[in-house]
Amino acid sequence: MLNPVVISIPFFALMIAVEAWLSRRHDRDYYESKDAWTNILIGFVSVGFGAFFGFFVGGIYAVAYQLAPFKFPADVWWSWALLFFIDDLAYYWFHRISHEARLFWNFHVVHHSSDHFNLSVAVRQSWFSGTVHWIFYTPVMLLGFAPWMFAVMHGFNLIYQFWIHTRFVKRMGILEYVLNTPSHHRVHHGVNNPYLDKNYAGVLIVWDRMFGSFIDETEEPRYGIIKPLRSYNPLWINTHGWHEMWVAMRERKSLVSKLRCVFASPNMEASRRSIEPII
Ligand SMILES: [Zn+2]
Ligand SMILES: [Zn+2]
Repeated sequence: MLNPVVISIPFFALMIAVEAWLSRRHDRDYYESKDAWTNILIGFVSVGFGAFFGFFVGGIYAVAYQLAPFKFPADVWWSWALLFFIDDLAYYWFHRISHEARLFWNFHVVHHSSDHFNLSVAVRQSWFSGTVHWIFYTPVMLLGFAPWMFAVMHGFNLIYQFWIHTRFVKRMGILEYVLNTPSHHRVHHGVNNPYLDKNYAGVLIVWDRMFGSFIDETEEPRYGIIKPLRSYNPLWINTHGWHEMWVAMRERKSLVSKLRCVFASPNMEASRRSIEPII
């Protein structure tokens, strides 16, 4: 079965082209061509790696589904409605932990390390995160949802997240209370102090409001990561986090502080290493 995200690639390409054209036409600096082409290249390669890791992860999901004591039927609407909420909640925690523990941040940093915010950033995704994200989604199969149902629902969840990477849509009225919107996701990509590690939602911003990680867009976000990467090398973009973690670990003496390098928040680590935040 073809992944809905793969089928959407021509649509993503068209939308990126239109937005880049609008940006130039309206004299906005939303796009930098080298950055955008790097994002697109990283996106294509990540689809290839995703298919490769998906082969193994599919096996894990199949076993988990076999172990589920109850199986949800695929031909009733309420199964899909329930799956939508469960998948979106699982995404919230996967995304939140990807920010709050350095081991997982080393993958997710790829998505945040562009200094720009536009639709091409949406496809800038880690090549290697397929090695870990099953940890967060296997429970969905253990609850009794077939792996193919999860793949379809999760695919649509990711497709939704594409269009919120834009600076052209300002505010969306009443929808801002329920949905993750461009405004909320701009905040998520901001490194201004109040914006750090906020708004983790996939589709429903309700999870952030429930779990205390929501903040509204009140000032213009500054995009990127605390310590700018200044590299367009796709392999380095995908691996620099591991290198920095390794260097930090070597500096530590005790096992506890070495483990803290791996599992503590990357921001905590940055402040301890006194990397100058650029404000
Ligand atoms: Zn993120
Ligand atoms: Zn994003």
